[in-house]
This record gives sequence, C-alpha cells and structure tokens, in this order.
Amino acid sequence: MSSRAAEKPQIGVLALQGAFIEHEDMLKRLGADCHEIRERADLDAPMDGLVLPGGESTTQKKLLADLGLYDELHRRIADGLPVLATCAGLILLAKDATQDACPYPGFATLPIRVRRNAYGRQLGSFVTTHDLKGLGPISMTFIRAPYIEEASPGVDVLATVDDHIVAVKYHHQIGLAFHPELGKDTRIHQVFLKMAEESPHSRLPL
Ligand code: GLN
Repeated sequence: MSSRAAEKPQIGVLALQGAFIEHEDMLKRLGADCHEIRERADLDAPMDGLVLPGGESTTQKKLLADLGLYDELHRRIADGLPVLATCAGLILLAKDATQDACPYPGFATLPIRVRRNAYGRQLGSFVTTHDLKGLGPISMTFIRAPYIEEASPGVDVLATVDDHIVAVKYHHQIGLAFHPELGKDTRIHQVFLKMAEESPHSRLPL
C-alpha cells in the first residue's frame, strides 16, 4: 500500500454560501478530511477533491469573483481536480444555462445546458426515488433545482426523472440537480471519495 493510500483524502468544500456543512458532515463520516474554501489562502491546503454545494448560484458566482477565487479554482477543475457539484454547484459547472441572467461567470467545464429553477421558484421542491446508474434506487431531494436540458456527447447520463436529466458524470466531474448530502444515503459521496483517492491530479503543487 502506498503512503498516499494510507492517508485520509483531503476535500475542499466551497463554503461561501449554501448547504456546505451537510457535505462536510457526510464526508467526515466517510473518513475524509474537509477544509472550507472561503478565501485565496484556503487554496494552499492539499486538495484531492472539491465540493461545490447547493445554494444560490448567482451569489456564489459573484463571491467567487469578488474574493479572487474564480481563476485558481477554474484552473484546477479544468486540469482534472475531481469535483462533486450539487444543484447551484451544477449550475456553476455547466457550460450553458437558460433562465440565468447572472453577469458573473461560472466554471463552464461541464458540457451541458442547465435550466435554472426548472421546476418553478417556490413550489419546485420535492423528494423522489429513482435509479442512478451503477448504484440503483436513490432518494433524491430537489430544492428549487435545475435540470439538464442537453448533455453533449461524452457526458455520461447517470439519472433522469420525468425525462429530464438530473445527474451526470464527465471525466472527473459529477454533477447532480438534487441534494444527496441531505439524506442518509452516502453512496454518491463514496463514489466521489474513491474518485478523489484515485485521481492522478490529487495533491499537485500549485
Ligand atoms: N435555485 C438555485 C440557483 O439557481 C439552486 C437551488 C439549490 O442549490 N438548491 O442557484
């Protein structure tokens, strides 16, 4: 066993706004170390994977720009840093978005088109159970969620609900319209941690 395999995976969690604590709790329960990313200095810590949580994508994009985090995080994601993105985080990763007038850029590293607030603004919250490729039935919590209108060739569609794509994987990026961190099922986070542990990108120096 390599010394790396004996270490805990180090996960950076974007903690500007939104539902980041729940991701941290789940990842810690699975044996990972988490650190919150709020400012540039937080990017100096070793990072095997990155979580982009749910929340408000417009606020998150603005804060990424204002706090000077955007360029470095964009570079690392484009370079192959494993990412788990949920809901607003999915909007941050998407190349294109409809119903999104935000003037600040997202990372645009995932070749999909998302529809923001696709289920309606206020009443669009619900829980349902559907199959997720490779894992089987999963309880999915949607909160003012987007869905994916179109995925480019090469994007692996992991789940659809009512003919709308709600989960994808594209190389090192997992994008979900729902919130797995709000349930008890840890399987998606386990898949992400495995990806982070096995990634050749991990721990690359700046
Ligand atoms: N509606 C939010 C947005 O567009 C996303 C909601 C969520 O992350 N639960 O940014």
